[in-house]
Order: sequence, then C-alpha cells, then structure tokens
Amino acid sequence: MLIPEVIPDKEPLLRVGIILPEDKQNSLSLKISDLHSTSILINNSQTVSVSDNKIEISVNETGIELKGHRGVEPVTSLKFFQNSDTGYILVEPVIAGRGFHWAKYISVKLPYTLEIKIVDGSLVLINELPLESYLACVATSEMGAECPEAFIKAQTIIARSWMLANVEQKHIHLGFDVCNDDCCQRYHGINNLTDQSKEGALNTRGQVLIYNNEICDTRYSKSCGGVMEKFESLWENKPLSYMQNIPDAKENICVDLTKEQEMKKWVNSVPRTFCSPHYIPENQLKKYLGNVDEEGKYFRWTVETSRQELVENINEKLKLNAKTVLSLNPLKRAGSGRMLELEIRYIDSNDNPKSVIIEKDYEIRRVLHKMFLFSSAIIIEEVKPERSDYPEGFIFKGAGWGHGAGLCQIGALGMALNGYKTDEIVYHYYPGSKLKKIY
Ligand SMILES: [Zn+2]
Ligand SMILES: [Zn+2]
Repeated sequence: MLIPEVIPDKEPLLRVGIILPEDKQNSLSLKISDLHSTSILINNSQTVSVSDNKIEISVNETGIELKGHRGVEPVTSLKFFQNSDTGYILVEPVIAGRGFHWAKYISVKLPYTLEIKIVDGSLVLINELPLESYLACVATSEMGAECPEAFIKAQTIIARSWMLANVEQKHIHLGFDVCNDDCCQRYHGINNLTDQSKEGALNTRGQVLIYNNEICDTRYSKSCGGVMEKFESLWENKPLSYMQNIPDAKENICVDLTKEQEMKKWVNSVPRTFCSPHYIPENQLKKYLGNVDEEGKYFRWTVETSRQELVENINEKLKLNAKTVLSLNPLKRAGSGRMLELEIRYIDSNDNPKSVIIEKDYEIRRVLHKMFLFSSAIIIEEVKPERSDYPEGFIFKGAGWGHGAGLCQIGALGMALNGYKTDEIVYHYYPGSKLKKIY
C-alpha cells in the first residue's frame, strides 16, 4: 500500500479493490491462465498448488467455500500468486459503473496477486500489483488506440501523480489504495492493454509533477469547456496555486464567467480553446478517447427536460413534494461558469410557493437531470408558451464535461494533435509545477 505523505523512492505496490463490500457479492468464478506459475495461500498459512484452472468461490456459514478444497479449517482468506509477467486470472462477475444507472457486470483479467476475504458477510477481492503495470492498464480505459504520444505520456504522468499524491484515500479503511471504478480511476485489469499504453508507462516511468516538494494532486476531467476550474470551487477550501481559473487557450481570453451576461455569450459561442472543435473535430473524438459517444458534442451541448420530468426528479432526489416548478435561478457561479448555487422555485402539493437552494457543481448536475448533466456550466432557458402560467420545460445549454479542474483531456488531446509536447501540456494545466523522476 502507499504510505500517506511519503514520496516513494522506488516503484510501489498498489492495492486495488475489485469487489467491494457494497457490491454484496457472494460468489465468484476464477479462471487461471497459467497453472504452473500460480499458487494459492490459504488463511495466510498453507500453500497449495493448483490442479484445475477453473475455481468456484462462494460464501458459506464458516467463511469462504472453495469448491473442491477438502481442508479441515474454515477458509477465511485466499491469496493467489502469479509468478509470470504475462499470466492473469479471469474473474467474473465484476461490477463496472458502480452506483450509476449504466452499471453492468463484466469479466476482468487480473495480473499479479489476488487476495480474497470476507467483509460484512460478502466477498472482497483486492488486486495487488506494481504501480507502473497498473498505470498502463488505466491508460487504455481512458484512451483509444490512435492517441498521439505526447497525450498518452501526459495522461500517464498525471494518473501517476494523482495516485501517488494519494490525497483522497477513499478506501483506506478497507485495506486498499483505490477502487476499480470511476469513484477513483477506471481499471479493468489487462483487458484492453495495448503496446501504446505499455510504452506510455515505460517512457515516463517514475515521472510525477511536483509543487513545493509535494506531488501535485492532479485531478482531471474530460472537458473544461474553455476555462479551467479552481480547486476550492469544487472541493474543500484549500486553494492550490497550480489549479486556478485559466483559459484553456494559447492566447489569453479575458472573460468573467461568474457574470450571467458573459456566461450567456460564452456558452452561445465557440471560442478558440484547446478543447474546442477549432483544435479537435468532435466527430474524431471517438477514435482518441474510448468511452465517448459517436457525436462527441461535449464542448457545447444542449439538453432539454420537460417540467414534469424535472418535478419527478427533484421530488425523488431532494425528497420534496413539488407539484410544479416555477423557475430555476442561478445565484452563484465559479470562474469556469460552473454553477455553485442554484435556486429552484416551486409550488408544493398544498399549493404553497416554496424555494430550495442547491449548492455545489456535482449536486446541481445530479438534481437537474435524470441522466446527470455533463457539467454545471450551463445557462437555463424556459420553454414557456404565451399565456401559460408556468414554463412547460427547460433547456440547458452547457459547456464542457466533468468538473473542469486540472488537465482537460480533450484540450490536452487538442494540444498534442497540434504539436505541443508532453511537458508543455502538463505545465499548461498545472502551472508552476515541475516534472520530476522519483524512481
Ligand atoms: Zn474508489
Ligand atoms: Zn478545456
């Protein structure tokens, strides 16, 4: 495991949670690719060799049931060691998109060491592997095969820095550094590993971004929408000087997106920023960034909701008893135009006018639409026919995808496609930081 606030001087081992207690999983099947180089340690004491490459695991009253194993002691933990660089264990089912409406079950190929135990009556699976191998795997789920080298290297450096800065430590109480999903970074084992992503890790081995002798907390998102967001607008009030409101552009663009009028103009225009179609045609995003849709309209986009849909959504998510929505009023914006406070005025089921204020970018995205808005950098237009008392619906016109702080993936891609080098890209998104090879 990573040690908090310590900069490692050699490649660390990382522990990744693959199956979590909240998945409430009580069975699992494993398929071992290379029997001869795999061994199993039971209860941290007894090593057994493997005779069958298929293993079924389930939970019983005494602990873990390992089909075919006839030991006397109840099994409480299992460790699989794979002593080969190419071997893997195919594990299924594993949830992907945990907690989101698009969650599904997949199978993953996991290299190195697998640890299985029981927490709160269900299975927990942890994959322990060297950090650089992990980074090569993470890179492929974030990028398509045709990415320019400068972008792959930049993405790998910031994924490594984020990991080693290790600020969030969301799962430390369960004994692993990160989980396998969007909550931390997406990791599907070696499923989609490519030569390119392996090279990306190899060519930047041990390189991180440093500021004031600390590894930078290099959070990143898909598209800033034209101006980067600063740390304290989104998370706790601990400003980071390398994470400020800066135009994602070659020339300085002077805009104050905290002002409603300027924000309106901004969203209705296509400024020359690195993440704009001026630098990267949107219909080509798919071949560079794996998990985007064909159309790829993330720089400027429009989403509509009917009044009824919105009423259902706010009632469900905010536990209100609204009958109708009267208006949506932006009260406060951050420097990238992302909304920090939104007032919803509505009439409740007793015909009383009420209002509620939603705070924080993430919460506003969640509350305004069933599908979760791409970003909260939106302007809101009412659909209101003449003579009608209430709006029939709302149109959200937005900029960007994600929180917008730190590296803007589409912008970094736009820079790489236009000849910028890896160091120019990372210094643009984390100004004042320095690249350093720590091992
Ligand atoms: Zn996580
Ligand atoms: Zn951008």
